[in-house]
Amino acid sequence: MHADILVIGTGIAGLSYAVRLGHLRPEKQIIMISKRDLLESNTKYAQGGIAVVSDFIKDSYEDHVQDTMLASDNTSNPTVVDFVVREGPERVQELVAWGAKFDKNGNALHLGKEGGHSVERIVHHKDMSGLHIQRALIAKAKSLKNIQFFENHSLVDLITDHHVPGSTYGRCYGAYVISKLDQEIVKITAQLTVLSTGGAGQVYAHTTNPSSATGDGLGAAYRAKVHIKNLHFVQFHPTALFPKINGNTFLISEAIRGAGAKLRNFEGEAFMNKYDERLDLAPRDVVSRAIYAEMKKHNTPHVFLDATHIASKKLKEEFPNIASSCLKIGVDITSDYIPVLPAAHYICGGIDVDEHAQTSMQGLYAIGECSHTGLHGANRLASNSLLEALVFAARAAKHSDVALNDSVLPNTFFTAIPYWKGTEDVSNQRTEQLSALRLRLQHIMSNHVGIIKSKSHLIDAEKELHEVYLATKKLYQQDKLTPQLTTLRNLVSVAYLMIKQAQEYTQNKGVYFNEDYV
Ligand SMILES: Cc1cc2nc3c(=O)[nH]c(=O)nc-3n(C[C@H](O)[C@H](O)[C@H](O)COP(=O)(O)OP(=O)(O)OC[C@H]3O[C@@H](n4cnc5c(N)ncnc54)[C@H](O)[C@@H]3O)c2cc1C
Repeated sequence: MHADILVIGTGIAGLSYAVRLGHLRPEKQIIMISKRDLLESNTKYAQGGIAVVSDFIKDSYEDHVQDTMLASDNTSNPTVVDFVVREGPERVQELVAWGAKFDKNGNALHLGKEGGHSVERIVHHKDMSGLHIQRALIAKAKSLKNIQFFENHSLVDLITDHHVPGSTYGRCYGAYVISKLDQEIVKITAQLTVLSTGGAGQVYAHTTNPSSATGDGLGAAYRAKVHIKNLHFVQFHPTALFPKINGNTFLISEAIRGAGAKLRNFEGEAFMNKYDERLDLAPRDVVSRAIYAEMKKHNTPHVFLDATHIASKKLKEEFPNIASSCLKIGVDITSDYIPVLPAAHYICGGIDVDEHAQTSMQGLYAIGECSHTGLHGANRLASNSLLEALVFAARAAKHSDVALNDSVLPNTFFTAIPYWKGTEDVSNQRTEQLSALRLRLQHIMSNHVGIIKSKSHLIDAEKELHEVYLATKKLYQQDKLTPQLTTLRNLVSVAYLMIKQAQEYTQNKGVYFNEDYV
């Protein structure tokens, strides 16, 4: 297959890029692939909403910039923060024009408040903002004739000079992709390739991310020698529901603390005053470490979130999804404390990009959670990631529009690119072994590379991960490639980079906390 543009990932980043470029260049063909169905993504699960300045009386660009810088421990890139914050309102208006609807308070937008924000600033659709945005974007993208979708197709590797004998352009030429249904590996060539593969929370045993968030774009970029930065900055969300529902960790949005809910330990004590003057709405790294300390001190598997003093009408109206999910484990949020614990939530680093979302490899863009733009630094401010995805997708689309005129390779070049070479031996389908290796990797990362790190734990993690790496490599060399094996290969690469980059970082900033540097 060949397209002008190949977009890998159909979350808010990939979809909003494709919608914009599809409009700008109706004559250009765009192929979009997604690992599962079009809807399944981190975007689908976003609850809180988008942080954006919309009330220019109570709020200002300067305040949003300051809150972002403060949350990151002043490690964000100020230039990037400034343009993202200023371009945000226009991007949200476009989303509305493309079909998204946000909650209103009279004629104005209803704004939520989350940790680290000095004012109410979060534009949202009840507590299901991501699902709503995702549906609106899918409908819009489907209405454009030049976008073709391939669901259940997973990235295997980016096509680079390494795969093309004699080629020295130093570019990306598309990707090899595996179909879930027939497990065939397809070659999709393209003038421009966009990675929008989302997060990698599945590197950990407890994560708010769905099972598809395995850092595949990061793994493929790493193998293609594309620059990757700051993977050691893993944000843990303080309040994931305990226990899991059907094997998935459910997030209890910060917006509920914004509405007044309080964290309590097993003795019923509201403990945040011992840790930070911003109490329950301190930035996520502070709250996660406080919860971790309370769990350790009282030797308990979780703490509680108390929303019982909030009017039950408000809770049911503003948080219907949280209320119904808690009921599944027998917790009525209007009268019961909600059991919560921190879970891996967001990777602040990623594939390093410039202000147009260009990676270190020509012809390859990275947008959304898989990228590192400089906006988040050592810690992401709540609800800044949907904003980042929108702003950088728009910038990437604008840049692609020009790049499509400048850097077009002849079709004969693409047809000469070889098909995937690998073993076709299907005698070994070691599903159980692959699942066991994935579980082992998740436990290594949760036990040794969690909220509180140490030098000795990082060394242990590296040693134990090496065993998983060797086992995975052996399977890769012997067996026919499957989507499951591809995913494991990526998880190993991402975990390795997280450990190595953590070992190189010798101070405590933002979400990174190593007890040897206290
Ligand atoms: C529970 C939860 C709540 C959140 N709440 C908020 C919030 O309120 N506000 C906020 O700003 N942020 C929030 N976030 C973070 C935010 O949702 C994500 O950062 C953002 O949605 C990422 O968008 P994306 O387009 O980069 O990736 P995603 O939305 O994750 O999309 C990734 C896409 O890539 C595809 N993909 C992955 N691997 C492959 C592969 N190998 N081959 C092909 N396709 C692939 C997936 O199928 C999917 O289509 C939340 C995250 C979670 C998990």
